Amino acid sequence: MSEERTELGDLGEFGLIRKLTSDFSLKNPGSLVGVGDDAAVISVDENRVQLVSTDMLVEGVHFNLMYMPLKYLGYKAVAVNVSDICAMNGKAEQITVSIAVSNRFPVEALEELYSGIKAACDHYQVDLVGGDTTSSFSGLIISVTAIGSAERSKVVYRSGAKEMDLLVVTGDLGGAYMGLQVLEREKQVFQENPSIQPDLEGHDYIIQRQLKPEARVDVIRYLGELEVVPTSMIDISDGLASEILHLCKASNTGCYVYDEKIPIDATTSMAAIDFNLDPVTCVLNGGEDYELLFTIGQQDYEKIKGNPHMTVIGHMTNAADGTYFIDKNGSAVTLRAQGWDHFH
Ligand code: ADP
Ligand code: MG
Repeated sequence: MSEERTELGDLGEFGLIRKLTSDFSLKNPGSLVGVGDDAAVISVDENRVQLVSTDMLVEGVHFNLMYMPLKYLGYKAVAVNVSDICAMNGKAEQITVSIAVSNRFPVEALEELYSGIKAACDHYQVDLVGGDTTSSFSGLIISVTAIGSAERSKVVYRSGAKEMDLLVVTGDLGGAYMGLQVLEREKQVFQENPSIQPDLEGHDYIIQRQLKPEARVDVIRYLGELEVVPTSMIDISDGLASEILHLCKASNTGCYVYDEKIPIDATTSMAAIDFNLDPVTCVLNGGEDYELLFTIGQQDYEKIKGNPHMTVIGHMTNAADGTYFIDKNGSAVTLRAQGWDHFH
């Protein structure tokens, strides 16, 4: 180790990953794609590949047990990993689960956590095949690895988007972030005065979006049925802006994204306005929606047109044209990511 000291915040999460992994090259012919996409891609035979993805949830960073029931936490830990396999156009089949727990948790609490993991395994039809258990001094940590499979020719990377491809999102966005704002507000009220009951009325949808996100396995199935193979894809774990920029960077394209096209549920918008926030800003910079963001060639537009699960929000352009967001007044502003960089 050198004498130099670089702060983690100077590099940011993605800069750090790049710095730590850039010296590694892939040695085995079966390792088709390593670091850099939603999942690694490993060759099985000439027709099929295996997909591997890992995500870790840390108490106090990713969840707060004051409002996150352990059962939901278990479910979410699986769902977010299944979502990464979906983002490669694959199907999750197995998971491993590793936990670090402090002795402040009784066995019953961990059983509760595992009941959520089991519910997700049943819902997504994946098998729990292993894991690791250890102790922690600071809080609960849960790390899930998902293993999936896909047809080799149908794997979708972040890097395949072409100029003039349409940019599509599934579902509606911003709900999970607004759900978190409501839960945080009620937590604060409760901490100041425990006799006041939390007021979550009218916020069921956004709270569910935060506490029980679903991976869009249904959309992967629809795309298969419609015979649409996206040209690029990513799941929306951070803000929409950051994910769009990931696709543009990996694909070497620019983009035009239209404010007025972004799908936002009415309850999300109302909550945002209640908090004096612009709903679209919440979508661009919020996170945890676990919807899919993908691009398709123009020729596939007819196949998804009118589909209630998919919304075209813009298109890709030449990289030299830049990455633009067209606001409600029709002005183009440069798209910037101010999402969840964990070191800032
Ligand atoms: P996602 O948001 O889809 O979960 P991340 O942003 O966490 O992906 O990671 C981006 C890429 O970097 C992925 O390919 C992931 O496997 C890889 N990666 C993240 N952290 C590390 C690490 N500490 N060592 C090696 N690879 C990593
Ligand atoms: Mg991802």
